[in-house]
Amino acid sequence: MSLRQALKEAKYILAANDIRDAALESELLLRHLLGISRVQLYLDLDDPLVREQGEAYRRLIERRTAGQPSAYITGRREFYGLEFTVDSRVLIPRPESELLVEEAIRLAGGLDAAPIIADIGTGSGAIAICLAIKLPQAIIYASDISAAALEVAAANCRRHRVAGRIRLLSGDLLTPLPQPVDIIVANLPYVGRAEAAANGFEPSLALDGGPGGTDEIERLCHQAAGKLRPGSVLLLEIGQGQDEDITSLVRGLLPGSVVAVTPDLAGIPRVVSAVLPAVHTTPCG
Ligand code: GLN
Repeated sequence: MSLRQALKEAKYILAANDIRDAALESELLLRHLLGISRVQLYLDLDDPLVREQGEAYRRLIERRTAGQPSAYITGRREFYGLEFTVDSRVLIPRPESELLVEEAIRLAGGLDAAPIIADIGTGSGAIAICLAIKLPQAIIYASDISAAALEVAAANCRRHRVAGRIRLLSGDLLTPLPQPVDIIVANLPYVGRAEAAANGFEPSLALDGGPGGTDEIERLCHQAAGKLRPGSVLLLEIGQGQDEDITSLVRGLLPGSVVAVTPDLAGIPRVVSAVLPAVHTTPCG
């Protein structure tokens, strides 16, 4: 059987099992098996897939139809144009989180040349690493409560040669931060408990935001006031429908801050930003 035929068959099986992006996923898994680039795959479409390879490919497709995410099968995922090592110790970076990176870079433009940034709940380290690369002057902390996730983050820091730029911190939310920062960026767990439990593959620590989904974000907001400098920025990724609750909480906890919500490419409110006043004002009277 040719690569083309194998791909067609795999695509059919994936689609029949309700796997989204069946064509893309079948390509990704075949490229992983053969260790080739996308361009090479297209050049080789009429080459034969030998029997052992065909069987190995079928096993990969079976893992995928059993629900295993392709990023865990291949051990990698692209995010913000970079490739990250991922496994079941960490959440798989989602395209919508690229918005957090973009907003952090945009807002860093209005701050000191060398902002201090903290990525809270860093997981694979993807967000912190993108920021380290895009903002070469920034001082960056990345924290996680999961020691296992921090191992993956450390591997990714080495892979992208920013291990010397990012200080990994183990602990709960902002508690391990040694100093106040200019930007807090956080993609915390925000999925409701029942839905998080249904995921079955990714760590529940990275998804489970309590019964309503917002427990961890709310805890972070309560801690943030003490860890943000005047003029600094809080950036939170949120789940669908959480924007009103989170913006009113942030407005209450960070008085005088300018709060905004940015939608993702699907039009879903995805990032809440709060820019604190540059100097503390004392009310008169
Ligand atoms: N966006 C992820 C999902 O919907 C959740 C990530 C998170 O909880 N931060 O599965």
